[in-house]
Amino acid sequence: MPEGFAITVVGAGVVGCALALELAREGEEVVVLEMNPGVSRGENQSSRNSGVIHAGLYYDQETRPLKAALCVKGNRILYRFCERYGVPALRTGKLVVATNREECSTLDRYLGRALENNVPVRMLNREQVREYEPRVRAEAALLLPSSGIVDPAALVHKLYALASSAGAQFVSETEVVGISSLTEGLEVKVRYRDGAEGSFSTGRLVNSAGLYCDRVARMVDPASPYRVDPLRGEAMKFYRTRRPELSMSGMNVYPTPRKVITDQGVYFTVGVHLTPTLDTDLQGNFSLGPVVTVGPLNRQARSRGDFGGGFQPVREFHKQVCGFFPGLREEDLEPHQAGIQSRLVANPDWVFEFSPADPRCLNLLGIDSPGLTGALAIARWVRTTMLG
Ligand SMILES: Cc1cc2nc3c(=O)[nH]c(=O)nc-3n(C[C@H](O)[C@H](O)[C@H](O)COP(=O)(O)OP(=O)(O)OC[C@H]3O[C@@H](n4cnc5c(N)ncnc54)[C@H](O)[C@@H]3O)c2cc1C
Repeated sequence: MPEGFAITVVGAGVVGCALALELAREGEEVVVLEMNPGVSRGENQSSRNSGVIHAGLYYDQETRPLKAALCVKGNRILYRFCERYGVPALRTGKLVVATNREECSTLDRYLGRALENNVPVRMLNREQVREYEPRVRAEAALLLPSSGIVDPAALVHKLYALASSAGAQFVSETEVVGISSLTEGLEVKVRYRDGAEGSFSTGRLVNSAGLYCDRVARMVDPASPYRVDPLRGEAMKFYRTRRPELSMSGMNVYPTPRKVITDQGVYFTVGVHLTPTLDTDLQGNFSLGPVVTVGPLNRQARSRGDFGGGFQPVREFHKQVCGFFPGLREEDLEPHQAGIQSRLVANPDWVFEFSPADPRCLNLLGIDSPGLTGALAIARWVRTTMLG
């Protein structure tokens, strides 16, 4: 490990990589520490998500102002970035469907919220829904043309490659295990893969440790009140080319969002949705692929490493979507993947704050969805907040 760095970033997920690029382009000396074997290798949120570019519909200004602002901004920056650097992404559009009268009135409220957030939106009636997705059945739907899909692994890899070229250093298999304040800067203690430990000094530190962000925050400030309540989201998949009843034109199709009440509190969910995927050939050309994912079906994760099998029954996935996608049969579905979100207990928004114990440490806490969409906007926010 080299001697000292101006800025240390903890975690090389999509947020850490975007930050490294943003800061290195400003001429800052940046090191990114990652405990996984490499960037895009190993388990984190950025490698196991739905790959949806959100429009910014769901987040109200009052309880989720950061998500509201940075999702909409991130959406615009992300499309531009993907186009410029050839990262597979498509502006597929999205339907948020209502299948009964109660859901229709919920959609009316979300229409108002979308307009408040400056998100392009239109209400569709039953016939218009069919014009967009002939196999989808709904009484009404919100059409969000700025929603889309991106290849998350390709995005992370491109950010990493550009950040490295701009001078950022990435050190993998290196876990941050302690942070203490010095008169000049901070001391960062690390553990390498072979168990050996080391330390180095840094001027400032950004905690973008995803599922472990609360633990890293407590290394600087043992009194930090934030706790991650890891949320496991499982996804199945089907092939839209397998039967005519499954053929989709390639939009994201979501149910009406709803609240879920658990022992830990009341949470909001976007629901189990249909999301198309991208196919990329060896030349890097991409197009809409045959696979459509169905998820996430959420449950509390047993641990922060609960990425393995043991999916909920297929019938549960089917039950969630058959109301608006009646052509789907249980036997069309097969397991796709499980991911875990860094959801904060009792905090619906992301929390970005300088540690009260040492303001040279900036904590980015609870970056759950729409963190993939918002990553480039989050990086800009950090750059302006830290560097002015
Ligand atoms: C099932 C699921 C579906 C989702 N769908 C969407 C979607 O469709 N659209 C969307 O916009 N968002 C979505 N998200 C959210 C999105 O994936 C995350 O918000 C985003 O990936 C967060 O990135 P990150 O870099 O903050 O965290 P992560 O990707 O989790 O990266 C954090 C990194 O920090 C490293 N780390 C942790 N602790 C340490 C330590 N002590 N020392 C060194 N390294 C450390 C970890 O190994 C990890 O690599 C979804 C998430 C899940 C789980």
